[in-house]
Amino acid sequence: MRVAIQGTRGSFSEAAARLRWPDLELVPCREVGDVAAAVREGRADAGCLAIENSLVGSVTPTYDLLHEAFGDGTLHLNSEVLLPVHHALMAVPGAPLSGITRVLSHPVALGQCRIWLGRHLPGVEQVSAWDTAGSAEIVAKAGDPTQAAIAPSHAAAHYGLQLLEERIEDDPTNQTRFLTFTRSDLELDPTAPRKTSLIVWLDHRPGMLAAVLQAFAARGINLTALQSRPERSAPWTYRFYFDVEGAISDPRLGEALEAIEALAARIVILGSYAAWTGEGAVATAPQPAAPNHRPKPDMPLFDRRQKPEGTIVQIGPVEVGGERPVVIAGPCSVESEEMLLQTAEAVAAAGADMLRGGAFKPRTSPYDFQGLGVRGLKFLAEARERTGLPVVTEVLSWEEVPVVARYADLLQIGARNMQNFALLRAAGRSGKPILLKRGAGATIEEWLHAAEYILAHGNPNVILCERGIRTFERATRHTLDLNAVALVRERTHLPVIADPSHAAGMRSIVGPLTLAALAAGAHGVIVEVHPDPSQAMSDGPQSLDLAMFAELMLRIRAAGPVPAVGAMA
Ligand code: PEP
Ligand code: MN
Repeated sequence: MRVAIQGTRGSFSEAAARLRWPDLELVPCREVGDVAAAVREGRADAGCLAIENSLVGSVTPTYDLLHEAFGDGTLHLNSEVLLPVHHALMAVPGAPLSGITRVLSHPVALGQCRIWLGRHLPGVEQVSAWDTAGSAEIVAKAGDPTQAAIAPSHAAAHYGLQLLEERIEDDPTNQTRFLTFTRSDLELDPTAPRKTSLIVWLDHRPGMLAAVLQAFAARGINLTALQSRPERSAPWTYRFYFDVEGAISDPRLGEALEAIEALAARIVILGSYAAWTGEGAVATAPQPAAPNHRPKPDMPLFDRRQKPEGTIVQIGPVEVGGERPVVIAGPCSVESEEMLLQTAEAVAAAGADMLRGGAFKPRTSPYDFQGLGVRGLKFLAEARERTGLPVVTEVLSWEEVPVVARYADLLQIGARNMQNFALLRAAGRSGKPILLKRGAGATIEEWLHAAEYILAHGNPNVILCERGIRTFERATRHTLDLNAVALVRERTHLPVIADPSHAAGMRSIVGPLTLAALAAGAHGVIVEVHPDPSQAMSDGPQSLDLAMFAELMLRIRAAGPVPAVGAMA
């Protein structure tokens, strides 16, 4: 295998290329462009170029070459190589460190040794050379004891130099990432993980880059590198280079690329290559299932027969789905730090198991209080810290799943979002248990299939919540469907809880509905509680005050264990 590198014998590029092809025949090249040309013109079979260093960042000449070199499909990216990079300072034999006045190396290497040079050779002249090993060769040829080179330590023996100091890089973790490529499309190990590189040109409009990133995020595709470079002939416009996990043949990536193609002014897919799996490899994200390509199981994942013993969802110390009814209590909305802490402490003292509170609120009117957002999430985390109660809070859109998941122990998907499929998929990938409320107009079948989305996307921890449906009845806000509680317990292994507050819309019947739901087989309840309901910013009429809740707690605890399915038949 003839492999072209930028640099000469003894360079880091050679060492990197040998990690991929140990028995290679080296084709040294002066410039990065020469490496691509050598492979294109058949003077070499493969090329190996540095693309990024862990201390100084991108190797911009390589980035600037990528479009021209790979855009037309003649060359094929093959693999990535990570090479630990340790630099040594070397000079002609007998030259003392104190006499060095000029240091030569590749500019990227000089950049990686800035701290050592500043400390041990302050004011030394730093001279950019074409290559690290190449600068060792220049120093050897010159024979001048005032010159030194920064190069891999093995280059010293190669060029008859002595080592003045080893490991002079600014950080011992220093490594460089290389890309190898070939003219013909080499067979890659089909089981090896892949990465894909692409370049995207975007119009100057708000949110364009975010939209591209979301095309990856929505499908659970992990981004490993993002670099922008100026578009030379069009000042203040940019090309964006993306590296993502997965091969082009991965349907998730195929879908994302289709979406990006539709958004971008232009897209060039540079290709897929084998990701580095050797020493220093960054752990890859688990590959979620493709959104629109789920193999259908013989029986729905929610079906009770999948798990006749029932699922217990563990949230910190709390078990939902066991014999003990779980009580989740707190305000409809997190209104302030003070009111949340006061409510949290009161419900904890009364014996609640978890704290609720909306930070992102789904409101019927856009003029109503929309919640405190991230500030509210922080208050919830603080309340958890104070009381030890795990917290549940609603997430309104798939884009906000990561931020809400960072603070919440249980993510609530509200009634209005029960069939927001993008949100359900993201919930499946969130790594957090999900509280899935039934839509006010949803059938039991639709509700269970919404749960199926979350299960199918890899999250087994789903709790169903009956919160009242819309019927002809206007005297209450909704009608708590206890048929559904009892029936869903039969039909699924998932835990089922009830929300009497939103069903009732008035506090006076929250207590009876709670006890009725538990009697019908609910594994617990979620109840709205406010220190001063008359002042609540949302759902005041249905919120219990602290004393009413404490009273209700006593009755819940007196109600006994959650009945087993079939126990009452
Ligand atoms: C809530 O829990 O405050 C809420 C908005 O609930 P739902 O989605 O059931 O209306
Ligand atoms: Mn509410």
